Amino acid sequence: MVLAQLGGSISRALQQMSNATIIDEKVLNECLNEITRALLQSDVQFKLVRDMQTNIKKIVNLDDLAAGHNKRKIIQQAVFNELCKMLDPGKPSFIPKKGKTSVVMFVGLQGSGKTTTCTKYAYHYQKKGWKPALVCADTFRAGAFDQLKQNATKAKIPFYGSYMESDPVKIAEEGVERFKKENCDLIIVDTSGRHKQEAALFEEMRQVSEATKPDLVIFVMDSSIGQAAFDQAQAFKQSVAVGAVIVTKMDGHAKGGGALSAVAATKSPVIFIGTGEHMDEFEVFDVKPFVSRLLG
Ligand code: GDP
Repeated sequence: MVLAQLGGSISRALQQMSNATIIDEKVLNECLNEITRALLQSDVQFKLVRDMQTNIKKIVNLDDLAAGHNKRKIIQQAVFNELCKMLDPGKPSFIPKKGKTSVVMFVGLQGSGKTTTCTKYAYHYQKKGWKPALVCADTFRAGAFDQLKQNATKAKIPFYGSYMESDPVKIAEEGVERFKKENCDLIIVDTSGRHKQEAALFEEMRQVSEATKPDLVIFVMDSSIGQAAFDQAQAFKQSVAVGAVIVTKMDGHAKGGGALSAVAATKSPVIFIGTGEHMDEFEVFDVKPFVSRLLG
């Protein structure tokens, strides 16, 4: 199964290797370099690719390869497993419980898809009979409240926000308080983004988090941000306790290799992916198809 999942350039590299009569370290290195190139093109961070190479060299036994028939399979399996491992931070994210109030705060740069994803997340749980609610604590982007209001209304999800109040901390606090009183079991706080990582943004995130005491902070990243993913995720993690990652716009051209960086930087798992602009274009993250796509 794994063999069929591996994509074009990787398959070619392995084909070349299996055509070689002698499988020595040089041939294995060439093959791994080819795989490296493919992963870099998929936006996997260089350091992570290098670590993967080192691990694979440790796992793959050259004597086994030289012995013959299974060499492609051995390497394919090793690459595939290594990438799956890199997407597993070793501990699951906080899992909200139906009927028990959880506060979930979303963070991410402007344009990452945060507001859209907040509604998708709420809708996902609403369909399963939960009582979600949305709080718009984004007072930075003009139109953010209108956007959330529109999405929430469409999905018939209660929402809270203000056109007048400019203090996001106050709005977040009031909104969470209100929905706790209304016994909502999933209170989702959408926050401001900026076009770039700025001290003011991170200070604001720290304050909103302090005021709302979220059970889970989700970092939302655009799959096309490429090599910037590590620094971006790390910057958020340094100001708030990021506990999960959602990768958006997986319906586009980007392979989403930045997700590996986000997992490494936040030590948190990817929990969902966004696959379109619509509310139901949202999937529970599944590591194997994701890795296959990375390698394609
Ligand atoms: P925010 O600034 O982070 O709140 O980002 P928005 O939620 O406003 O999203 C920015 C743009 O990305 C909007 O045009 C969304 O429709 C779009 N978007 C969000 N998620 C996805 C996705 O998974 N796929 C696609 N194709 N577009 C998305």
